[in-house]
Amino acid sequence: MAGTRKGYWQDAYQVTFQSHVARISGNNIILDETFFYPASGGQACDRGVLVIAGKSFNVQEVLKEGDNVIHAVKPAPGNAVVPGMIADGMIDWDRRNALMRAHSAQHVLSARIAARFHLSTTEVSIQPDIASINLNNQINLDQLEEVLTIVNRDCTTSHPVTTSISPRDKAISDHAGRIRGEMSTEDPVRIVEIKDIDIMCCGGTHVKDTSEIGLILVIKFKGGREIKFVVGKEAVAMLAKMNTGMISAAATLNKDMLQLAEAVEKQVKNSKLLEEQADQLAIELLDREARCHGLQASSGIRIHVLKAITNKKIATAHFNNFSPGSILAIQGDKGSLQIYSNADTVKANELIQALVERLGGKGGGNPKIAQGMLEKEPEDLGALLMEILSKS
Ligand SMILES: [Zn+2]
Repeated sequence: MAGTRKGYWQDAYQVTFQSHVARISGNNIILDETFFYPASGGQACDRGVLVIAGKSFNVQEVLKEGDNVIHAVKPAPGNAVVPGMIADGMIDWDRRNALMRAHSAQHVLSARIAARFHLSTTEVSIQPDIASINLNNQINLDQLEEVLTIVNRDCTTSHPVTTSISPRDKAISDHAGRIRGEMSTEDPVRIVEIKDIDIMCCGGTHVKDTSEIGLILVIKFKGGREIKFVVGKEAVAMLAKMNTGMISAAATLNKDMLQLAEAVEKQVKNSKLLEEQADQLAIELLDREARCHGLQASSGIRIHVLKAITNKKIATAHFNNFSPGSILAIQGDKGSLQIYSNADTVKANELIQALVERLGGKGGGNPKIAQGMLEKEPEDLGALLMEILSKS
């Protein structure tokens, strides 16, 4: 048998068709000809309905198996459907159209990157109104911006998209050297041409003019090679949301929206600097405290209380400078507390527990280092610790 005739290669806009049942197996129906696009070449499949002998079957997945296109349907056709019956197909147009837009946009983007930076697209994924590509080498943000400007102009102005099926050799000689990417090994091949932009060997469904695509918006740019983008209505809605988000973020930073990226970068640098300064201050405080006597509790234990924002790594390292028999309690913000002990008779985790019992909150750790969040801030933590230690 010659396999399923690819109606979807003829006209991407035809979403109702009539064909005959060729074969049934379980939930799978094969027709003589189908306009349902099967998942292939990175493009997700169409969905829709097949009506056979007055019964409706939901087409949930469409797959290619050799030369055949398989429609996985629900419910299972059982004995109600036999080969030769007429099948009426109805394709979900919104999904199909969103796939067409995404696929054509992908060709435009890949073509413009190839032409401008001589990079090829090694992988594609086409979903309704969302697509991603992988490149064989990196581009930077400035290059992405340059390409996006061109691609968005392409996708909002008219460039006719045409498809043709021809013998492989003829396609190669007709478009000598102008076909982007690797030629399919199939024969005949299907050529998709976007006027003035791209010629590509592709079996996917495409819009007939790039102006139908609309804006594209990159939502992920990873490692300079992976570009994920949304298309059309999706992109416009997302842009509007981002636009207002940027206006409000810029207002928070007291900047103009177009200076936002620069302002955020500066802000991040500033906060890193502040963090470094806070660390330095905490280190100075810790080292100064290490030279003090602290509060003398019974049995030779010394209690040190500090208010500082610092992390465990810094505090642990600098607690090494405290003389044996020391307890260090560091009060951070919002009731956070760290306790360090190098006294054999005092366990940091037990101290935290005793504090939690009196002030509420939670905490844990080991005899050397413990931390917690206290519900109520103690008025005088040093005095409270003295009291707890005197009772134990
Ligand atoms: Zn394609």
